[in-house]
Amino acid sequence: MAESNETAQRLAIVCAKAENIRQRLCSLAGSDTLLEELLAAARSGGEIAEPVDVLHAVLQGFGDAQGLYAYSDSGRTGDRSVRAGGTNRECSPELVYLCPAARCTRSWWPQGPVPVPRCAISGDTLRRDRL
Ligand SMILES: [Zn+2]
Repeated sequence: MAESNETAQRLAIVCAKAENIRQRLCSLAGSDTLLEELLAAARSGGEIAEPVDVLHAVLQGFGDAQGLYAYSDSGRTGDRSVRAGGTNRECSPELVYLCPAARCTRSWWPQGPVPVPRCAISGDTLRRDRL
């Protein structure tokens, strides 16, 4: 099943910021059910376009005009050249970590001693790859 580009980008934000979104949902809605349902659907390979849309809309409904995109590191998606904290790309230009579930467009560049993050969907650490 091919996800739309937009859905994959939104899922990448969820994948990277699941804990932030969970806290936000719990404080605003009193429950993280929406997030759990989305993650469960993604884990099982189910339809995610709709739950992603719902989560996005709910966050917007709580006053976060950007919805899910407010959690994107760059403040927007689709710009893979933006890196948080100005990592030294020169040292390892080709090394990148990708979503192990390959369900989202998440990418992460090694950042010194920072441990490799885990995918919120599969629970596995991101898989090492080369550009
Ligand atoms: Zn992922």
